[in-house]
Amino acid sequence: MNYLTDLHAYSEKSFGDGYLAENVLFEKYIECGYKTVVLIYKIEFNDDQSVFQASIDHMFKTNETLAEKYKGRLNVLLGAEFNTCDNDFLIYGAEKSDLYKLNNYCGDWVTDYREELNHKKVLVVQAHPAKVGGRLLEDHNVDAFEVYCGDERFNSNNSFTEKYCEKYQTHGILLTSGSGYFGEDSKPSGGIITDFEIKTSSELVAAIINGSFKLLGSKLSPSRKFKTELHCHSSEISGCSSVKAKDVVDKYIKNGYSTLVLTNHLNTYGKTPDEYRRRVRRMFEVCHEAKMYAGDRLNVIPGVEVNIQSEDYLIIGVTEEFLYDEVNFSKEEVSEFRKKVNAAGMLLICAHPMRFAHVIFDYRDVDGIEVYNGHPEHNSNNDLVALECAAKKDLGLILTSGTDHHDGHHKPNAGILTDYPITNGKELVDVLKSKEYSLIKNGYGVSL
Ligand SMILES: [Zn+2]
Ligand SMILES: [Zn+2]
Repeated sequence: MNYLTDLHAYSEKSFGDGYLAENVLFEKYIECGYKTVVLIYKIEFNDDQSVFQASIDHMFKTNETLAEKYKGRLNVLLGAEFNTCDNDFLIYGAEKSDLYKLNNYCGDWVTDYREELNHKKVLVVQAHPAKVGGRLLEDHNVDAFEVYCGDERFNSNNSFTEKYCEKYQTHGILLTSGSGYFGEDSKPSGGIITDFEIKTSSELVAAIINGSFKLLGSKLSPSRKFKTELHCHSSEISGCSSVKAKDVVDKYIKNGYSTLVLTNHLNTYGKTPDEYRRRVRRMFEVCHEAKMYAGDRLNVIPGVEVNIQSEDYLIIGVTEEFLYDEVNFSKEEVSEFRKKVNAAGMLLICAHPMRFAHVIFDYRDVDGIEVYNGHPEHNSNNDLVALECAAKKDLGLILTSGTDHHDGHHKPNAGILTDYPITNGKELVDVLKSKEYSLIKNGYGVSL
């Protein structure tokens, strides 16, 4: 079942003369199949705090009366709007006492309002951010952007906002949609579609935070995006890395990742089986320690970058048991090794296939290609790899992206974006196979 909720509606009583009367407005919503509407009230600051509080009280009283009147036909929730520094901001989930305090911030930048409100899970959303005269907040100091606004009186530049939001979803921005104003002869066009009826403001806030809805007027998926790093080294195992696994963990938490795959180097050249196995054991120990250190702050998943016939490959979903008996893989044919990898439910990905202008061998030997490698000191010819992968699209290769983090000054700038956090190797294999993810390149999300 689908339920429609408009997050941005104005009426005569909520916004003043010139807006549709409630009986006209709400009948239109009911006629168009909406179950819930958030009526936006104008916050008018006042030098006298008691006058201001009285206006807030009046707002709640008005909405209570309307909600009661339309009970059973339409849920009427209360939202509010304030304007500061030439931008409009919507507030969802506020109680009276939350709004009382806003008078102190009259004219201040939105950061101050947000700090006051966020403690109680009240959301501050920038309305029609790209509307002429407004500007998108580059410091992202709001909880969400209204990616679609259907207000007929002006151009909201919705497609511009959409492009911007797609790019910055890696920064944890939430998305909303709303009609804004529509005239007497027109219909509501914005809002969200949920599979449950939104009856209270706290249900609304939870839905926006979880991204559990479809947006009207935008193709973007509102789900919060989770970042996974697929290519990262640590100094305990990889001699070429200068950062300990714990510090890597701290860094990825700071950079907003939800999952880190530790892919230290491994080969079998010149190693006795015993030497090799000791290294494998140590590799998984380091990963386990990092996982314990991270706790519930970051999912740490074991991975590996193996070298076969002088080329590097990542094994996705790798386990200690699998590697334990592969004491001679570096000298095997890639295609043969891949069969074993696949039989164990794992994927073999060619890492930075054109680094130092390496010519790519046969794509059919691998499950996928690291189409973006973020190592700043190595030229991985990412653009050429992307072109090559586009040309070979028919092969159905899995495309991945990884920072190849080695050193303190390397900035996490790659990986994948998913709708759910990835917690283990099996989930990672499944999500890559499903192709339901986006790539992060150079710090930004891009479609596959
Ligand atoms: Zn390395
Ligand atoms: Zn590497």
